[in-house]
Amino acid sequence: MIKVCKFGGTSMADANAMLKVKQIIESDKTRKFIVVSAPGKRNKADIKITDVLYSCYDELLKTGSCEKNFSIIRERFVKIVEDLKLNIDINAVLDQTEKEICESKSADFAASRGEYLSAIVMSSLLGYDFIDAASMIRFDSDGNLNEDYTNDKVKSKIKGHDNAVVPGFYGKDSSGNVKTFSRGGSDITGSIIARGVKADLYENWTDVSGFLVCDPRIVPEAKVIKQLTYKELRELSYMGASVLHSEAIFPVMRERIPINIKNTFKPEDAGTMIVPSEMYNPADDSVITGIAGKKNFTVIFIEKSLMNSEVGFIRKVLSVVEHFGICVEHVPSGIDTLSVVIESGQLENGVLSDIVSEIRESVNPDYVHVIENISLIATVGHGMARRSGTAAKIFTALAEKGINIRMIDQGSSELNIIIGVANSDYENCIATIYNTFIK
Ligand code: ADP
Ligand code: ASP
Ligand code: MG
Repeated sequence: MIKVCKFGGTSMADANAMLKVKQIIESDKTRKFIVVSAPGKRNKADIKITDVLYSCYDELLKTGSCEKNFSIIRERFVKIVEDLKLNIDINAVLDQTEKEICESKSADFAASRGEYLSAIVMSSLLGYDFIDAASMIRFDSDGNLNEDYTNDKVKSKIKGHDNAVVPGFYGKDSSGNVKTFSRGGSDITGSIIARGVKADLYENWTDVSGFLVCDPRIVPEAKVIKQLTYKELRELSYMGASVLHSEAIFPVMRERIPINIKNTFKPEDAGTMIVPSEMYNPADDSVITGIAGKKNFTVIFIEKSLMNSEVGFIRKVLSVVEHFGICVEHVPSGIDTLSVVIESGQLENGVLSDIVSEIRESVNPDYVHVIENISLIATVGHGMARRSGTAAKIFTALAEKGINIRMIDQGSSELNIIIGVANSDYENCIATIYNTFIK
């Protein structure tokens, strides 16, 4: 039996949290391979080490040194090592790290050092070997993970180690420079290592007792989801449930390895099991599994009579958007209508009006209308396919609360109903759907 355990930022925040992590690992001998994040916030007002490292890079660009911001990193790690009474020359490691950040002149390299330092500290605390992620994880020149190369490297590097600590969040690009995943990417590293060692379980330790039906910052009493399928996880994490990085599912999915989301500060709680559908066997079978959402989308609404009989209409609209190098989030359509939903951040600096003009020229629509400041909210549950009336129940509840639905898109998977509401209705909408389905 092998377990790979990833510990997030709060689990690495200070010596106390790290001691809790040690206890968890030592209580189960199968917890052999450990992936760590950089120290996160110790309290609400605190700042994540990764954020300080990005500031080091900014300072370096402006002044040629990162001394000011690096002193915050130094203070945090010196205190951790002192509190843990570890026998490592942390000042020498920090001096070398600061020097390398200055020499590399790379934001990714700077950001990666939080995980690197965390892993050095944890390997000393646990007496486990340290294996650098840069020697295993490889990105292609297009920036995507080279899965086969990485998997082979993980297998060969880890062979011969009974146990080890691996820093999360980064690997190397095709030119040999350190490159990070997007934010929260240590979850992906954990999944890669779990796949490489063919783990029986990937434990993802965080600061909540599992994947909750919705964001606890919106509904504080949100219940824990006991079991979740890979597909549901993908929908929820892609739609903003930030507890697990949306790409973390893929490596473990290849080997059908379950993920267990656990709470470092309440290790006795069962947490959430995320399993392939063939293993799914929940005690309670609720209609909806979870609700997640993201703010700040723009909807371009296009109307043209007999649009459906015009060959290539949708293709022409989408190629306008593609021409601007922009990703489309959703394309809900009706008989004579088509909406293109795009993340608003991609449409700044006049891009939106250029796209609208080009759409007008390209397909000569009867009417084009832009709706900005839209939030997308996904209600996910594989139980929805077997039961009728879920959408009607959502719409009725929202109508009763006076929340105007601006857009609807029911995914073809029947796993997901996505609605668009004004940003100002975001929290209220999620809370209303929660209260309608979860007792
Ligand atoms: P870590 O540093 O351990 O990776 P994250 O901050 O990335 O932790 O993720 C955990 C946080 O995700 C929780 O503290 C919680 O505020 C937030 N979160 C958002 N949506 C959910 C959800 N549906 N279930 C649980 N946590 C959620
Ligand atoms: N430390 C990185 C971040 O803050 C990666 C991670 O925690 O997963 O995004
Ligand atoms: Mg995270």
